[in-house]
Amino acid sequence: MQRFWKQLGKQPAKGRRRWVYVPYDQLSARIGPLAQGGPKELGIVLVESPWRAAQRPYHRQKLALVLANQRHFALEQAERGVAVRYVVHDGPYRDALASVQSELGAFECMEPAERELREDLAPLVKSGALKYLPHEGWLTTREQFVAGAGESAPWRMDAFYREVRRTSGVLMEKGKPVGGKWSFDTENRRAWKGDPPAPQPPRFEPDVITREVGELVESRFASHPGRLDLESLPATQPDADKLWRWALARCLPNFGPFEDAMSTRSSGLFHTRIAPLLNLHRLLPRDVVRDAMASKLELASKEGFVRQVLGWREFVRHVHRETDGFRTLAPDARPSHLGAHRPLPAAFWGERPSGLACLDSVVADVWREGWTHHIPRLMVLANLATLLDLEPREVADWFWVAYTDAYDWVVEPNVLAMGMYAVGGLMTTKPYVSGAAYLDRMGDFCKGCRFDPKVDCPITPLYWAFLARHGERLGQSARMDMPLRSAAKRTAAQRSRDQRVFERTSEALTAGREVPPAP
Ligand SMILES: Cc1cc2nc3c(=O)[nH]c(=O)nc-3n(C[C@H](O)[C@H](O)[C@H](O)COP(=O)(O)OP(=O)(O)OC[C@H]3O[C@@H](n4cnc5c(N)ncnc54)[C@H](O)[C@@H]3O)c2cc1C
Repeated sequence: MQRFWKQLGKQPAKGRRRWVYVPYDQLSARIGPLAQGGPKELGIVLVESPWRAAQRPYHRQKLALVLANQRHFALEQAERGVAVRYVVHDGPYRDALASVQSELGAFECMEPAERELREDLAPLVKSGALKYLPHEGWLTTREQFVAGAGESAPWRMDAFYREVRRTSGVLMEKGKPVGGKWSFDTENRRAWKGDPPAPQPPRFEPDVITREVGELVESRFASHPGRLDLESLPATQPDADKLWRWALARCLPNFGPFEDAMSTRSSGLFHTRIAPLLNLHRLLPRDVVRDAMASKLELASKEGFVRQVLGWREFVRHVHRETDGFRTLAPDARPSHLGAHRPLPAAFWGERPSGLACLDSVVADVWREGWTHHIPRLMVLANLATLLDLEPREVADWFWVAYTDAYDWVVEPNVLAMGMYAVGGLMTTKPYVSGAAYLDRMGDFCKGCRFDPKVDCPITPLYWAFLARHGERLGQSARMDMPLRSAAKRTAAQRSRDQRVFERTSEALTAGREVPPAP
């Protein structure tokens, strides 16, 4: 990191400064203690821990994204006169901070979003060496969550979202939702046939700091999966702003109608790709909501986007916090409401093709970009994982390492609760599962697949077999009545074939083989 140290230069003498520890995912000077007081009164400590980066086989692009942003943030802060202590420590964060504590004294820090980091830092908080301040990146409070969704589970996003809209006044007019309804979701279900053209994500010119991070990742984390592509990596504040300007101008105008569409021709379609930067706070949720509100978007797109950031993003964070990352339900953090326990197939690591074009195509996107939009996550990856009874924790850990926007507070609720129904109806009314017809309708994978969605695609029998296996548990949800009634109408011969397809598909994928044609 020679270039980085050289650019960081000699830091101002300690003096009388307010020292703030800035975790890797709080890279903003527009909120919290860094937004108060002048730069000359502030000192920040940033920690780079190769130990933490090696705890899981994180996608190389994710490691580069976090490290390049953190190093650039250090330089940006030094540039404006903040004293910067950049600590490289091959161990837990608490040890890194303890190593500079005697020199700098006690630190303040906005309470980390990640449970894992809070656990790491807990001894410092207990001893008084670290004092937490409220995290100003969040847009909602626990009080709003409780007022909208309730004190205890089950929690529902739409009730929380309505409360937040009411109390914040966002998209409200005289106490009523703008446009007469809270959600335009039912209108946002169009498939994409190529028109309007999908925008190309912006490219970025990697500077010497980013290139140095790239070299570090290529050498020290060579065994990690995923393609490193520095030119698609926003690393500086101007890069982050450029991505958001692109998203606002090129994606959001068509965001709503095509929100659920998937295509092999465009991995992102009209999704903004801002989650990796929102979760690092290079972009602030309050700013993107403000800009979207001020723009001339159609109401369906505006509301659709606001619901994601002000609704879903905040909601999953509250659920994670309330349940201690679901440890209140499953102390080992391995909830499995449906008793699913099968191992994650190699096909998810892109090592062996599954022969299912939808799965193979989305997996290829993930290892190429470290990202896919919501529907491939939910309706391809999590759908298949659920239909195949894969172990929910293994699947969540896979998402955690594979996606550049994954942190425990967001990946665990989305995978365990929303994607895999591993905590039952705690935050969703039903499992999000489907057969091949949905995938064929909303995506174009089937065209390039050796299976025909109307004839022999195993995903439909997998769906029926799933309903047959778990009908009793699923029957607790009123929204499953219809699918379960349809499942009950299947003949004995159809059911036994469904079950055979499930066994054969499961066996083949577990053994690293392609899914065989239906019997
Ligand atoms: C199985 C599964 C795993 C997921 N894992 C993650 C994850 O690790 N990290 C992550 O940030 N999101 C996760 N999501 C939520 C969502 O898919 C991503 O936030 C979104 O796809 C990111 O792409 P984007 O920025 O283009 O989002 P857009 O579609 O453009 O939406 C705008 C923003 O809304 C927020 N948002 C939308 N839906 C959610 C949601 N369900 N939870 C939280 N925020 C949401 C994100 O901040 C996103 O950037 C997951 C969803 C599923 C179904």
